[in-house]
Amino acid sequence: MSRSLVLPWDDALTTYDFGPGHPLNPVRVDLTMRLARELGLLDLPNVAVIHAEPADEDLLALVHDRDYIAAVRRVGDDPDRPDPSRGLGIPDNPAFPGMHDAAAMIAGATVAGARAVWSGAAEHAVSVAGGLHHAMPGAASGFCIYNDPALAIAWLLQQGAERVAYVDVDVHHGDGVERIFWDDPRVLTVSIHESGRYLFPGTGFPQDVGGPPAEGYAVNIALPPGTADSGWLRAFHAVVPPLLAEFRPEVLVTQHGCDSHVLDPLAHLGLTLDAQRTSYAALHRFAHEYAGGRWLACGGGGYELVEVVPRAWTHLIGEAAGAPVPPETETPQGWRAHVVTSLGVQPPRRMTDGATPRWADWAEGFDPADALDRDVLATQRAVFPAHGLAGLLGS
Ligand SMILES: [Zn+2]
Ligand SMILES: [Zn+2]
Repeated sequence: MSRSLVLPWDDALTTYDFGPGHPLNPVRVDLTMRLARELGLLDLPNVAVIHAEPADEDLLALVHDRDYIAAVRRVGDDPDRPDPSRGLGIPDNPAFPGMHDAAAMIAGATVAGARAVWSGAAEHAVSVAGGLHHAMPGAASGFCIYNDPALAIAWLLQQGAERVAYVDVDVHHGDGVERIFWDDPRVLTVSIHESGRYLFPGTGFPQDVGGPPAEGYAVNIALPPGTADSGWLRAFHAVVPPLLAEFRPEVLVTQHGCDSHVLDPLAHLGLTLDAQRTSYAALHRFAHEYAGGRWLACGGGGYELVEVVPRAWTHLIGEAAGAPVPPETETPQGWRAHVVTSLGVQPPRRMTDGATPRWADWAEGFDPADALDRDVLATQRAVFPAHGLAGLLGS
């Protein structure tokens, strides 16, 4: 399906590093790029690794308060003087030298992807270090300093885009992006996540649908802990494609946090790599069916650094390149050797968890007594009428 894919990249993207012991270790991005490279994905004729540069102050100010940007600079210059009122220098977001530059580089990479897709230089873009969806206009939150997906969306609106859809499959609610476009009907945000009753950031319920000018343009699917492949894919397909088909975005922006995996140490869903890969393929298809093929994909959360993240996002890159990696593929020798020598742990041997995801399609019926179906119904009932989709609601 793909004609061309760009990956904005600079080695400085791995300087976004909160230090030893912090879950968001940049090794996950490094291992992803190494795995994608060794599988030959970066050498495909339709794939280009492009230069990324840091977002400048005016770009960051599309979404962030200028005094917050100044605070990030200040704390990065002098990490011994944190600013907890802005979420800087607290355990979730420890201060580190150069944190402004590192975070601005991630923002710049994701916006470079948006620029390539909007200009037509490439059909798709993947910003693997991006997806920092919790950052708020005036505060860092949940390991996120600058909100690169929101910046990419704001940049697209500034260029004249009238409809941008954002789909966030991270296990955590995409609260920062939702908040930033809460009152803006030009941006449809959809977040599918473990319910905030059990997980950070504690928000993202079905009845949270957007401000009065944009009711129905914030969409939240809040899943019970333990939801695994078939339930997750059932909920995703029951809500996401009908909305995209109706909204018809000019660009699809997606966030691919892979912390929904059963092995992720920070959350409680039960997905396999194979379900994650299935959702990436679906989003790719939706980009072509509903968004003219314009697709900007970002990374996101994911804290199983060796077993999960590199394989998940390598599948994302392969999918976006139009060269999906067959699940039975063995991980390359060279990559395995690097994992063993650099980290001293055993790497996964194949690009699959061995699962074959299947799900019961919503159109074939649902059970209001089932916990997952109840949650899906709550989301559908909250937002479908605003999009003229009331006819799809079961009685
Ligand atoms: Zn494509
Ligand atoms: Zn997450």
